[in-house]
Amino acid sequence: MKIGKVLLMGRPNVGKSTFVNNLIGQKVAITSPKPQTTRFAIKALYEDERGKIIFVDTPGIFGKAEDALSKRINERTLAAIHEDVDLVVYMIDHTRKRDFEEARVLGLVRKIEKPKILVINKVDLQEKSFLPQYKFLEDEFTMVYQISAINRMHMGPLLDKIFEFIPEKTTDEIPKDLVYPIINLDSHTFLSELIREKVFLMMGEEIPYRSTVVIDQVAERENKTTYIKARILTTEDRYKKMIIGTGGRKIKEIGSYARKEIALAINKKVYLDLTVDTDPHWQETYY
Ligand code: GDP
Ligand code: MG
Repeated sequence: MKIGKVLLMGRPNVGKSTFVNNLIGQKVAITSPKPQTTRFAIKALYEDERGKIIFVDTPGIFGKAEDALSKRINERTLAAIHEDVDLVVYMIDHTRKRDFEEARVLGLVRKIEKPKILVINKVDLQEKSFLPQYKFLEDEFTMVYQISAINRMHMGPLLDKIFEFIPEKTTDEIPKDLVYPIINLDSHTFLSELIREKVFLMMGEEIPYRSTVVIDQVAERENKTTYIKARILTTEDRYKKMIIGTGGRKIKEIGSYARKEIALAINKKVYLDLTVDTDPHWQETYY
């Protein structure tokens, strides 16, 4: 059976998470219309009769690290890049201009001495294209695929090509943690990222960056309900107030949206006990 690891690279918003989600068919990575949602390297396992592939979806690689948190994020990104991978998938979005950020990511891609595939995403959007700006990449990368991750267009041929680079392993060479569970992602991280994504989507830019989500308890109840106790931590009382909203409306909305998606992802009924706390030091404690 083939077993291997693929590193996804590309600046924020090119569609890496969408690609992984639509390939695996479950919400394993976080997608967002806003950048910088994927704070950790998220690993998702793809499986079919040919074998297993772990996709490492990298956090956004930022233009510059302005504070300690961004620095740590970048370090984690680089740590993910140094993991032993069999193949690198470098994804670009042809509907956005080439810029400094793209050049940085390309610089990192170039440093990795592994087979690389260039994936041009969002080919469903043809009206606004900067593809000529990326033409030079097609000379650098011998393998180039055009896909639409959102529509699952041309994903099959790309996956066939990816499998060509995944090594054959015997049964006893398969890492134990790969056999089970299907989603090779710590469930607390998964839950916390999913809830944080909702905070991110429903609040302004300011708050989510100053907040995180801590999962205090996950328990199976007798009536087949999964009980999840989670806390949104934010740095200041005024942010806490904003997240709670008038009459608790905002937090209810966040909780309800998150609960539905968790239920969908784990295929169980979910009771989500979601509260907000102020903790000015969460960055030191939880990150
Ligand atoms: P990431 O930051 O690289 O992980 O990007 P995401 O997967 O979060 O996607 C960023 C945005 O691009 C989201 O709004 C997606 O819905 C959108 N997107 C992703 N793939 C496609 C695509 O193939 N076509 C179009 N039109 N939009 C896409
Ligand atoms: Mg992402």
